[in-house]
Amino acid sequence: MKKFIPDLYVTNIHQIKPKDLKKRGIEGVLTDLDNTLVRWDEPATTQEVIQWFKELNDEGIKVVIISNNNEIRVKEFADPMNVSFIHKARKPLKKGFVTGLKMLQLPANKTAVIGDQVLTDVLGGNRMGMYTILVDPIGEKEFLMTKFNRRIEKRIVRHLFKKGLISWTR
Ligand SMILES: [Mg+2]
Repeated sequence: MKKFIPDLYVTNIHQIKPKDLKKRGIEGVLTDLDNTLVRWDEPATTQEVIQWFKELNDEGIKVVIISNNNEIRVKEFADPMNVSFIHKARKPLKKGFVTGLKMLQLPANKTAVIGDQVLTDVLGGNRMGMYTILVDPIGEKEFLMTKFNRRIEKRIVRHLFKKGLISWTR
């Protein structure tokens, strides 16, 4: 069960302060794209995301986008921002995360994983021994598979709540 629990839970990425990450010894971020940075059907980035990436950069924190989505989607989003990415990462499998660490040139314990899904982002990051941050998903329109995952997630989260294993910081 522990593998499903994020180290930090926030409403959105803008509540994640790069300075706080730095204090925790985080030097790199592997962030999910769809419903984490922008809505899954939103092709382009936003001023807010650009600003947040800049703040990370100012703290010397490197960023790689790690997405299970296809190359066209991820490249179209990441290239204009000049950010490296991994597409078809097949999270929560380890391979994509290992590639991410190589790109960041960092060990797992200095890396944070950020994402909106427990079953891919949090589980995958925890299995790697990374610092995991769960955000609320942006938007409501979702793929069927995502909807299916969410239903399982809700059950897991409810269970953890009951056991007192998690509490929200909002
Ligand atoms: Mg996502």
